Amino acid sequence: MNTQIFRQYDIRGIADRDLDNELVFGLGLAFAHFAKMKLGKSELSVVVGRDARVSSDRIFCALADGLVKGGATVVDIGMVPTPLVYFARVQGSHDACIQITGSHNAGEYNGFKMMVGADTLHGAAIQELRGIIADKSAAEAAQPGEIIADENVISDYLNYVGGNVKMGSKPLKVVVDCGNGIAGVAAPQLVQDVLGAQMIPLFVEPDGNFPNHHPDPTVLENLQDVMAAVREHQADLGIAYDGDGDRIGVVDHKGEVIWGDKLMILLSRDVLKSNPGATIIGEVKCSQTLFDDIQKHGGNAVMSKVGHSLIKAKIKETGAKLAGEMSGHIFFNDRYFGFDDALYATARLLEILSNTDQDLGQLLGDVPETFATPELRLDCPDDVKFDVPGKVAEQFSKEWEVNTLDGVRINFGDGWGLVRASNTGPVLVMRVEAGTPERRDELLGWLENAVKSAIA
Ligand SMILES: [Zn+2]
Repeated sequence: MNTQIFRQYDIRGIADRDLDNELVFGLGLAFAHFAKMKLGKSELSVVVGRDARVSSDRIFCALADGLVKGGATVVDIGMVPTPLVYFARVQGSHDACIQITGSHNAGEYNGFKMMVGADTLHGAAIQELRGIIADKSAAEAAQPGEIIADENVISDYLNYVGGNVKMGSKPLKVVVDCGNGIAGVAAPQLVQDVLGAQMIPLFVEPDGNFPNHHPDPTVLENLQDVMAAVREHQADLGIAYDGDGDRIGVVDHKGEVIWGDKLMILLSRDVLKSNPGATIIGEVKCSQTLFDDIQKHGGNAVMSKVGHSLIKAKIKETGAKLAGEMSGHIFFNDRYFGFDDALYATARLLEILSNTDQDLGQLLGDVPETFATPELRLDCPDDVKFDVPGKVAEQFSKEWEVNTLDGVRINFGDGWGLVRASNTGPVLVMRVEAGTPERRDELLGWLENAVKSAIA
């Protein structure tokens, strides 16, 4: 068993090498055992969805077999975006859910995102599952479960969202780029039929080999097609999804990217209008302009650690109405269920734009201009990386305010810098933002020097 596949937020590996039928069956059995134990129940219903990867059908069969032998009822909802698995669990009051997906990774990958009750499994829980699989401590149930199919989840979801948003009178033209990911089974209908926008589709046919571009909208290169199409068609905006539809990328009417933290400014203003004083969460990589803007509009800005499972936990703890990551995971807990859903975020964004005469550029025109680096990634061995932020914090703490919530975020007054160890690879992540490009580069130099001496 390749233990590397049991990661911080999910299980993920190369399907044909790491996720053979024996392991996946073992996971199904272990999950049924684990979920019953956690929920204190003897019976269990588990929603299982999957993306359109070549290996997803095989993995579904092995997983469902393990779950059924473990005594669970499997609700097979077919090929759907990840948020629809969460939606199906909530709507059907099911005990747990699993999405089989390699998210934005290349076609040969696959994996599992899992929830028990309203909790996303991460960290220790995923390691606990690994332990149960490794020592084969989950026995088959005396009474096996069964597989039942629910083929209506996509239409139920579209109906739900249609009843949830109130589109205005302004007609919208929207480019929708699914990157051949699984969002293609629902996003085009959502935008065109439910939200009534004119839609220009790009790569909406799911294809697990991703023949056009990689379905990861956090990478600028992957947004080139949607940017060009917005300009060519003079669209109001462009939307791109990651491979499993839980992350959104947005391009404005000029074809320029609006990263997740800037998108959050627009969404948080809207949420604060109907929820004055609400708590809104951004993570440590987000622009200072987001936190400032939330406060300026009367909201309670809260900074969270990075990672969708940690953010979901923070939403529960604080009762936040909205949360978001720079990476495009957006969590609405206002008129919605608090999980990350790029399709629902699309609906709320189009709702805002259809109810105003202003375009995206005008709506965000009053946000102070800042100059930020993208997320910079520096290779650093796993046994070294976790010590680096602490040492960097020490170096700066005499002169500046340091926040060590997740790595270290140093407040330089007219800018900030972040150094944190990635939870998913031998990498240090850095980001810097300042009021001028010169100051940004200067701060980045300070940070790089501090990291160098911390590693030395
Ligand atoms: Zn994803």
